[in-house]
Amino acid sequence: LRACQRLPKIELHAHLNGSVRPQTIKDILDERSRAGEALPVTEQELADITVGGERSLRDCFRLFDVIHAVTTTHAAISRIAAEVVRDFAADRVVYLELRTTPKARPEYGMTKESYTQAVLDGIDAALAQLRAAPPRAASQQQLLPADAPAAAAVALSPAAAGSTASAEPGRQAGAGAGAGGQGAGEVASPSHAQMVAASEGVVLSPRAAPSHASAAGVDVAASVSSGTSAAAAAGAGAKGPGTMAESGPGEDVITVKLLLSIDRREDAAAALETVQLAARLQSRGVVGVDLSGNPYVGAWSQWEGALGAARAAGLRVTLHAGEVVAPQEVAAMLAWRPERLGHCCCLDAELAAQLKSSAIPLELCLTSNVLTQSVPSYPEHHFAELYAAGHPVVLCTDDSGVFGTTLSREYAIAAAAFKLPVSALHELARQAVEYTFASAAEKERLRRLVARELAELE
Ligand code: IMP
Repeated sequence: LRACQRLPKIELHAHLNGSVRPQTIKDILDERSRAGEALPVTEQELADITVGGERSLRDCFRLFDVIHAVTTTHAAISRIAAEVVRDFAADRVVYLELRTTPKARPEYGMTKESYTQAVLDGIDAALAQLRAAPPRAASQQQLLPADAPAAAAVALSPAAAGSTASAEPGRQAGAGAGAGGQGAGEVASPSHAQMVAASEGVVLSPRAAPSHASAAGVDVAASVSSGTSAAAAAGAGAKGPGTMAESGPGEDVITVKLLLSIDRREDAAAALETVQLAARLQSRGVVGVDLSGNPYVGAWSQWEGALGAARAAGLRVTLHAGEVVAPQEVAAMLAWRPERLGHCCCLDAELAAQLKSSAIPLELCLTSNVLTQSVPSYPEHHFAELYAAGHPVVLCTDDSGVFGTTLSREYAIAAAAFKLPVSALHELARQAVEYTFASAAEKERLRRLVARELAELE
């Protein structure tokens, strides 16, 4: 895990409200309670957010509804966006494509546009903080208690035989560091080491696997705890567990782009409204459109027109595909040729062959797929087959808050489950640059950044 935390990483599939810190949900509820408001969620629903573990895909969508019921103000949306950016930056993600579904909620004075502006404002605020603030520990809360049954959530598949390994879920402390900005969506900082020193609240220690953990994993055994710490106060350049070699001044910490999601519950008109909004906001870092939401809901024909409009407007498109068995829909999606696909867990042999021959890059979210039982176990995840076939794949978190993971942890799980050497992890990190929706110039800058940082590690 530690080695994975040192890697410069690219995150291409992260849902904003799925990446929320549970503590933030609690804070918002506390504020509303103090203001005498009736709370929109029950104690049980709140507990469901903060206690992880396996949940069906349907349960996950109920959980998203609960999160959405709590996050009804622009301030809350901005706060969540800012925290998510800081959390990814603290996990040494150097390029983040965040996605979120613009929400029209007239009862709260919110339009799709005002919602999206609030997200962009939150991103900008985080980037400004990362530029200006000296390293310090943030109040990142651990998503899942280390001793909760949630530990089972990260054990590599019980179905797999072999050496034992587990990774308890946790989050790195979000933290800011840096000096000197480079324009919208980018931050320069003295070094990543400062950033990580800032997140020294993260303590990594080898730990015996709990009895339920049984897998082909090798090196992900770790306990991750977070919070403020004296080490965090040690500041820039501090070395230790979870820290990395210091890099030079002026180094970019993170670049953030936004994708706007069409929810599968939305009809053609609502989908088109989202696309038009995305097209208008390209100058603020909106680079594409995503189709997501409950895969049991809706039909491809509903959104095809809007997605065509997105393409015509110069936006890139990624589609959630094959999260459940839906061969006709997946075939239609492949024929449409989006720039990227997500998941593709439930493809029959013919569709899997079509996917491979399409060479469409695939966003793979190991923990999410296993916890939602879209895939039976880590070693059985289709990553293995696609990776072996040389298909372009990128490791992603999906919903780091809901599933209690980080991108570093996803890399560590991949290393363990698929027996990947460090060099393969480096290559995955390097290749991910090619699948971003960044401009050619930004890609070139990222290539150089990732190559330089990997060279320092090699
Ligand atoms: P938001 O778009 O920022 O509100 O993030 C939460 C939303 O992302 C959910 O309501 C879903 O529409 C979508 N989402 C998150 N995870 C998944 C997934 O695994 N499959 C499909 N949609 C998802």
